[in-house]
Amino acid sequence: MLPDPLAVPSAVDTGLAPHAADPTRSRGRDHPEEAPRHRSEFQRDRDRIVHSSAFRRLEYKTQVFISHEADLFRNRLTHSLEVAQIGRSVARALRLNEDLVEAIALAHDLGHTPFGHAGQHTLNDCMRAHGGFEHNLQSLRIVDLLERHYAEFDGLNLTFETREGILKHCSTENARHLGALGQRFLERRQPTLEAQLANVADEIAYNNHDVDDGLRSGLLSLDQLMEVELFRDCLEAVRKRYPDLEPRREQHETVRRMIDTLVSDLIATSRTTLARHQPGSPDEARQAGEPMIRFSPEVARRSRGLKAFLREHLYYHHEVHGMMHKASQIIRDLFDAFDTDPRLMPEEYQRHADALTKTDPHAPHRAIADYIAGMTDRHAIREHQRLFDLGTLT
Ligand code: MG
Repeated sequence: MLPDPLAVPSAVDTGLAPHAADPTRSRGRDHPEEAPRHRSEFQRDRDRIVHSSAFRRLEYKTQVFISHEADLFRNRLTHSLEVAQIGRSVARALRLNEDLVEAIALAHDLGHTPFGHAGQHTLNDCMRAHGGFEHNLQSLRIVDLLERHYAEFDGLNLTFETREGILKHCSTENARHLGALGQRFLERRQPTLEAQLANVADEIAYNNHDVDDGLRSGLLSLDQLMEVELFRDCLEAVRKRYPDLEPRREQHETVRRMIDTLVSDLIATSRTTLARHQPGSPDEARQAGEPMIRFSPEVARRSRGLKAFLREHLYYHHEVHGMMHKASQIIRDLFDAFDTDPRLMPEEYQRHADALTKTDPHAPHRAIADYIAGMTDRHAIREHQRLFDLGTLT
């Protein structure tokens, strides 16, 4: 028999560290499937995520600025791509599994509501008496249940390792209902090193692109940012080397140096930590009492400084805050309307609510949360107009 030209050579992931996740030793998928022929299991996960509806909707979901405000600002899709890019670079340097990091990075924000954190807070408020709402858990719900494109299963039937990475945080209460996936929160173990990396890559990506978008929008100024050590040092290095640079280039050169500072420290510190612990397998890395993919204490302190600055000066800037105040009202109005009369939801979600009553103590409210969380910013705005703008009756 001729060799299958599409078959993956077994050495496809050689060169990986012994503690890197190995797709041939995955804990598998809930619904057993044949092994992929020309990709690894984690590549298949990544491909399913990219082909999902929830992934495409990320383009029209807010990161910090409402998605239609300006074409240049980040949205959740470009954010997820930046997380994947940073994650893959670090994974390669540390000989971790790039495909798994990429899959986790691309899926990590799938469960976000419209209007960023304001949407998440409000939906959580609305769901308080019905089990609450958490975007991280919602990302898992999307890949486990809500995507409905495959003949043999609901969701995307991803590997355990990708699902484990998507579920970054989880309350003890929720962990009890999540079987093997919830176990690590009850036993206080770490996820794979790839999941730890995707988590830090997320932080690097948003801290830096929010500085960039904040400056571009005019809501942040260079003067203000000079109080942030990480920013100040990088800007001073740029000015020393290029004293006459125009502002746009100066800004970009500064942000790229900040990313480089964080990424370089992350690689160096994680290398040292891994060399000290020498985990011989992914499971040994999971047993460690703390994450091994991390910054040095000094750079962690600087990164926290930047994060605190953004929180105070950008996320709570009165213009952003005002916009989010309105966004919260939209979410609350929609939730109340669907709660009062579920027939205001599309039939697909009415059926979803009926189906959930058999298994979910929080149905039908969970179905309303699923519907609202799945909306893009503009869908939520349009839906609000449809239900509340009396002028459109004419
Ligand atoms: Mg994120």
